[in-house]
Amino acid sequence: MAKRRKKRYSFKPRFFIIIAVFILLIFACVKLITSVINNDNTTASNTIQGSNNITIAIDSGHDFKTDKGAVAPGGVYEYKLNDGVAKALSDELKSRGYNIVFTRTLNSSEEKTLNERALIVNEAWPDLLVSIHHNTNEDVSVKGFTIIYNSQKTNIYDGQYIKYKGQTYKVTKKDDSYIYYQSGGSEKKLDIKSDTGNYKLIDLTSSDLVAKSKEAANDIYLSMKNLSFISPLTSDINNVIIDQNLQLMRQTHCAGITVECGFMTNESELAQLINEDNQKLIAKSIANGIDNYFNISGNKESN
Ligand SMILES: [Zn+2]
Repeated sequence: MAKRRKKRYSFKPRFFIIIAVFILLIFACVKLITSVINNDNTTASNTIQGSNNITIAIDSGHDFKTDKGAVAPGGVYEYKLNDGVAKALSDELKSRGYNIVFTRTLNSSEEKTLNERALIVNEAWPDLLVSIHHNTNEDVSVKGFTIIYNSQKTNIYDGQYIKYKGQTYKVTKKDDSYIYYQSGGSEKKLDIKSDTGNYKLIDLTSSDLVAKSKEAANDIYLSMKNLSFISPLTSDINNVIIDQNLQLMRQTHCAGITVECGFMTNESELAQLINEDNQKLIAKSIANGIDNYFNISGNKESN
């Protein structure tokens, strides 16, 4: 008996140390992998790298401090609803391989003016800007979502640009062998043949950006139309996809739309909008529209 016990004790510690080290190693690996896959960083202007090479800027309207946005009867602040949808949208898009840039840190007291937000967007050169808001109306019976684009983009970015090594430059001229671009105060060139695949030429005329914004608005409209708990503002698409001269869309040199997810002043709609599961469904629906806009298939599930 004593002999057996002794034998067991001399064997166990080493065995347990090996098992413990093994478990710790697995735990560390899983943690590393999940932190890479499920990057939960929602800090403003911090681009989260995805796999599809498309960057979406997400602007969650208003903030926690001085500009809380609209206030619904009962004290629900708009920024909170915006943050809910924006976070869900970010999670959804990240899972689909998109890069995400935020104009403001969600669920924080951080304030960002519209000028500062436009600067963050413009420095990130996203492929699309999506601003999330919620609506109000004196008439409490008014309900439904609307999508806004801005046909009055600033013209200062008109012309052709090149995306190269993570930066965007204005193209100054092109010939058969080289593309010349403005970098800081000087003109540089890249060899078209040897740099093939390393750069992307993009047109940035404001009319193109407006057309793209309308296309994105239309794709998101078609997707959101399928939501069961929220409908378009009216049956006339021209009153749902609206042209409005909003500052953020005017000042940003990318295609961009604002989604007004619904009316906080409508009691039954507000009840749907504050529901976290519904916020996720709105986000999923917007993401489906974004997939369609970029001609990406395979991510879609039913709303
Ligand atoms: Zn708002």
